[in-house]
Amino acid sequence: MIILRWLAVLLIFVIEMVAATLPIIDFVKVQIQDRAELNRLLQFVSDVDAHYSDLLQGFVIIYADDAEQAMLKAAGFNFQVVIENLSDYYAQRAARDRQARQAITHSMGGFRTLAEIEQTLERLSQTFPNIVSKFSIGKSYEDRDIWAIRISDHPNVYEPSEPTVWFDALHHAREAMSGESLLLFAEWLVSHYAIDLTTTRLINSRNILLIPCVNPDGYEYNRQQHPNGGGLWRKNRRKHSNNSYGVDLNRNYSWEWKYDSHDPNSGNYQGTAPFSEPETAAIRDLLAQQTPSMSISVHTHGNEWMYPWGYSALPTPDDDIFRSYAAKIVATNGYTTDTAWNLYGITRGASDDYHYGMYNSLAFTVEIGHFDDGFWPSPTRIPALFNTVQPGYNKIAQWAGAWAEILAPLWTEQQGNGDEWFDAGEIWNLSLFIKNEGVLPLDAWISVSSHTPDIMIDDKPINISLAPRQETLTVPFQFHLADMIDDEIPYILDIAINYEGFTSNEFLKVLLGPPQILADNLATIAVLGQVAPGNFVRIFVDGTAQVTAEVFWSLETTTAQDLPNIEGAVYLAGNIQPLLKGMTDINGQLNWLLQLPKSTELSGKTVYLQALLDFDGKPFVSKLTKVQFE
Ligand SMILES: [Zn+2]
Repeated sequence: MIILRWLAVLLIFVIEMVAATLPIIDFVKVQIQDRAELNRLLQFVSDVDAHYSDLLQGFVIIYADDAEQAMLKAAGFNFQVVIENLSDYYAQRAARDRQARQAITHSMGGFRTLAEIEQTLERLSQTFPNIVSKFSIGKSYEDRDIWAIRISDHPNVYEPSEPTVWFDALHHAREAMSGESLLLFAEWLVSHYAIDLTTTRLINSRNILLIPCVNPDGYEYNRQQHPNGGGLWRKNRRKHSNNSYGVDLNRNYSWEWKYDSHDPNSGNYQGTAPFSEPETAAIRDLLAQQTPSMSISVHTHGNEWMYPWGYSALPTPDDDIFRSYAAKIVATNGYTTDTAWNLYGITRGASDDYHYGMYNSLAFTVEIGHFDDGFWPSPTRIPALFNTVQPGYNKIAQWAGAWAEILAPLWTEQQGNGDEWFDAGEIWNLSLFIKNEGVLPLDAWISVSSHTPDIMIDDKPINISLAPRQETLTVPFQFHLADMIDDEIPYILDIAINYEGFTSNEFLKVLLGPPQILADNLATIAVLGQVAPGNFVRIFVDGTAQVTAEVFWSLETTTAQDLPNIEGAVYLAGNIQPLLKGMTDINGQLNWLLQLPKSTELSGKTVYLQALLDFDGKPFVSKLTKVQFE
């Protein structure tokens, strides 16, 4: 018993020793005059935040302990501590916010520990064995498994015929939200399988690979030092001969790798050779075997969606393609997008340059979160931060193969009274603007059918072949409206699209008679009865003037105020599409299509729409239009 007690005392002593030797790291802002002074600074400090430093503004952000700060002082640097003991700051914020909001979150400051990440992957593969499999891609320096999951229709095998889309996170051990975002995305995907057709198509036709923790040793080290979150270790845990630790895994890839730092203490130390680290070697081997057409490597923080190159200021040959895809994503989340070089400065040996340089994969590096979120955001921020990236992750997975989007329907009256509404007894043509949003060629069959004998459609399917990012207007489907058709109820046309061995359906609503005009002015927004999220409504503009339109919507408003001045009003310009360039209809009106937000939060709600138009340089504000969502 006495021996046991002695052991316990000894153990406490050892734990205290470890705690006492743990460096306390502050968030420090150093005044810097020029590049020469920066180079001098780099001799004293190991962890420079290139992202939030600004040489033009004359400061550099570093994460530094007391010993480093003492050296800076002795060397005559001017600096100030912005946040003392950054790890404690993160952990205390997490504890406080968890208590205040009773957020149900995971144990490490709201984030999953390495063990909890593994449990999540195991649970997903056990609960959804038909679409999820868990496997190890290799071992870390300290012999831990690097786990991956495949989400696909035959998850236990790699099917080369299905395009691969790749997601990885936690190259950098302290960037907690990066791994969490992939686990939330995996949970989101499987919970929509066999429920919504789009996600079902996605999972059936892709090899979706997710590697939520590339750097298990560094991540576990952070938990050991800071079990409540806030650990600031970045690199892996390789031990160097000078007793320092770690290689920056996101500088250890071979594309334009260069030995530019001989200091293994540096937070960006690139290692002794490309792929010197078992973690990056494991990624390299899996990439060679299951090469993605698109990929995302997740980091934090900065609210950025970056693409290659990082090693060079020159644009890649695919710069336009990167730009157009990134623009669609940042329209959903307001992130900044550009090359890694332009946003971050030179980064050699990073994973996105390797994915793209070696395999031509369209590779993005995502930096989740705002400056204030830091490396360990408040757990109450996790859902909101995930929402900033989820649409982009989903789109990248879709675009990684062929992906058909119906941009708009085009209706043309063939036989009838000449007005632009559907009336009983008329014959109409329906053509579809379809775009292949994906990076692989689309070869699809499309058919249109009706759910009622009152609408008869020539149901011959048509074939379309579209190169990547190409769009077309299909040959028309003709449909006849019965003479005795009831004009009160909406009719549904069912558009079936078959490609990659899978059929998905979209639905178009046909309402007879003129639409209910809810606002009438020089410009009107016409709404065909009730609308569903994601539907198109038409905006009619009198005259043939050169018009540009911006549309805002809001949940709350008073009619006295214009929407752009109302807090919470959402700008929708990114979703405005001309029905047909320069097209005027039979009444001399310009037709525009406005796609309503797809958010399910809008179900059952009333929103207000307002168009801001520009007629040959003269601004015009339409009346507010109330729209009731189904
Ligand atoms: Zn990072």
